[in-house]
Amino acid sequence: MEKVTSIQLQVVPKPDPREFTILQWPDDRVQPLVTGDGDTNLLCGTCHNIICDHVFQDTVNNIYFQCSKCGSYNHARGTPCRSTE
Ligand SMILES: [Zn+2]
Repeated sequence: MEKVTSIQLQVVPKPDPREFTILQWPDDRVQPLVTGDGDTNLLCGTCHNIICDHVFQDTVNNIYFQCSKCGSYNHARGTPCRSTE
């Protein structure tokens, strides 16, 4: 059986786009921004929208994501809140 950990990202103020990588959806689609073969789902810290589907958490460290659903800025880093949903 596949074991997937769901992690809520930390919601942060809007980062400076000149200093940080910010990934966001090109349109209003509500679907994962990144999909892969990893063991972790990353969820928006505000609305629990799935931002990264089946990724390896290490690959998204220090990247900011803007949620397509609620517009929150989320930061992926090493000290997330974990949930077991
Ligand atoms: Zn959201």
